[in-house]
Amino acid sequence: MPQGHIARKRFGQNFLSDPNIIRKIISSIAPKPGQAVVEIGPGLGALTQPLLVACGHLHVVEIDRDLIARLKQTYTPEQLTIHEGDALKFDFASLPALLRVVGNLPYNISTPLLFHFAGYAERVEDMTFMLQKEVVQRMVAEPDTEEYGRLSVMLQYRFYMDSLFDVPPGAFRPAPKVTSAIVWMKPRPASECACKDEALMARIVTAAFGQRRKTLRNTLREWLDEEDFAALGINPQARGETLAVADYVRIADHIAAKR
Ligand code: SAM
Repeated sequence: MPQGHIARKRFGQNFLSDPNIIRKIISSIAPKPGQAVVEIGPGLGALTQPLLVACGHLHVVEIDRDLIARLKQTYTPEQLTIHEGDALKFDFASLPALLRVVGNLPYNISTPLLFHFAGYAERVEDMTFMLQKEVVQRMVAEPDTEEYGRLSVMLQYRFYMDSLFDVPPGAFRPAPKVTSAIVWMKPRPASECACKDEALMARIVTAAFGQRRKTLRNTLREWLDEEDFAALGINPQARGETLAVADYVRIADHIAAKR
């Protein structure tokens, strides 16, 4: 029972307790005074405290009322601006840009959280997250690998990403069942994310990876005929996992141009 708090599974609570790992994460983030930093899920403050020492003030988004009450007892409003509620619904545009986003994320909602953050990429300086290692592997995966999928394509389109280091289960209380990893994400400049219709690209990517074993001719038949495949120079017999991020952008732009 970390610091007298009973960890809540439904909020994905695994609290960091290894001081070496905490130090390593903070030095990867390298927070500086005056930077706008927001921590997702501060919990019992394992990262919050050293972040505050480094940058003086912090925004935090936390859903658990008991943990919010503790944070209010421990920190002054000058140190911590507490946003009570669900990070999935939080409007990050209400915070100052350029934001540095950090957090040991609740693993049960990590994918929807990553997509939510991607919507604010223009306001973000960078993001450093602890996630399940398996999720980080999917984020940074290359084409033609088992891990490469919708998460890889949609996040690589918007961010440069780097898997920094692994964190073993023993670094947490309670210990999770899986190994974790730290990932760093830096938004690409707008000129590099120039797909004309990103919502369309998202639908195409979802369809292409929806049934991984099917050919593109099958999964993309709603949008592309044989002529389109020929014009794009893409083999209709190939599968979604063989295409690079740039190919998905080309497909979406081709369809948008036909309309
Ligand atoms: N940062 C702490 C640490 O490293 O020890 C806690 C990390 S714990 C894995 C995840 C934290 O996110 C918990 O404090 C949990 O209450 C909070 N949380 C879970 N779901 C959330 C949500 N939807 N919005 C905001 N915070 C959430």
